Amino acid sequence: MPEARDPLADLRRIAFLLERAHEKTYRVRAFRGAAAKLGKLPEGELATRAQAGTLTDIAGIGDVTARCVVESLNGEEPVYLRRLEATAGQDLDAETAGLLHALRGDCHAHSDWSDGGSPIDEMAMAAAQIGHEYLVLTDHSPRLTVARGLSAERLAEQLDVVADINAGFANIGMSFRLLTGIEVDILADGSLDQTDELLDRLDVVVASVHSSLKDEPEVMTRRMVTALANPRMDILGHCTGRLITGGRGTRPESRFDAEAVFAAAVEHDKAIEINSRPERLDPPKRLLRLALEAGCRFTIDTDAHAPGQLDWLANGCERAIACGVPADRILNTLPAEDLLAWTASHQKTASRK
Ligand SMILES: [Zn+2]
Ligand SMILES: [Zn+2]
Repeated sequence: MPEARDPLADLRRIAFLLERAHEKTYRVRAFRGAAAKLGKLPEGELATRAQAGTLTDIAGIGDVTARCVVESLNGEEPVYLRRLEATAGQDLDAETAGLLHALRGDCHAHSDWSDGGSPIDEMAMAAAQIGHEYLVLTDHSPRLTVARGLSAERLAEQLDVVADINAGFANIGMSFRLLTGIEVDILADGSLDQTDELLDRLDVVVASVHSSLKDEPEVMTRRMVTALANPRMDILGHCTGRLITGGRGTRPESRFDAEAVFAAAVEHDKAIEINSRPERLDPPKRLLRLALEAGCRFTIDTDAHAPGQLDWLANGCERAIACGVPADRILNTLPAEDLLAWTASHQKTASRK
């Protein structure tokens, strides 16, 4: 008889592939929820129930999930998983695949501490499994209440959790690092929505506009340039705020003087994010080309709100290649130490890790 597989790992892999393929949230939740629930069963009960056919007596475990578990325990790759794996590939040209391969990490991702769907450790584990050397955890800031932005106290608490998770990786000999961070709101006056003390403690600070997206161009430009000049931020997230598709509907680009904004990014050596979310794909290509000509540097990020979305980097890579952005302008091609040296260079006066 073949050796049993890990049924919980198979369920999580299914959830990952469904998320990556942009499937409905409830379907993803069914598998992720089942994995979490079954992981809490007393030793041996999973196998006993699988044999007796009583897995579906547990609330939240349906026929499909139960069948996957049984197949897994029998040492077979679940049929459901096999079909997903067989259709999961994304056709990338060689150049895009090369750039994707050169990326060592992702600088923008959310957990269920703000508006993400999964716990921090699951996001970290998924990032490690797809081969990242690091992931920056960037949950939202306090004023973004709709996304359950983190208060200063909660963020401070999160830093301890991240330290524990990293200790766990080190203990099992993995070199993967979860870096601390935030997606901090750029407020109406261009200031950042978190205390200086906390921003100083973070490895990477992504700053984004999430409110008053219809500000007049002069106002929006001033707002963004002020933020870029702030030594406590490193990366300008999804600069136009546009939504081009998806459940939240569409939204036009915010209007601002892109040349002035990109010049400020160059002056202060900040990165312009190439956001890989299918509904954002921000900046639009004409602005991406403009930023490149201006001399900007970039990060290609997923802005993942679930583990499977960590695999969306290829979207950003395709756009970078299309616009001629060379790998040496993309900061997440750097090893973690070099990335951190760059973020630390923005904060010369205050002490920063
Ligand atoms: Zn955002
Ligand atoms: Zn985000």
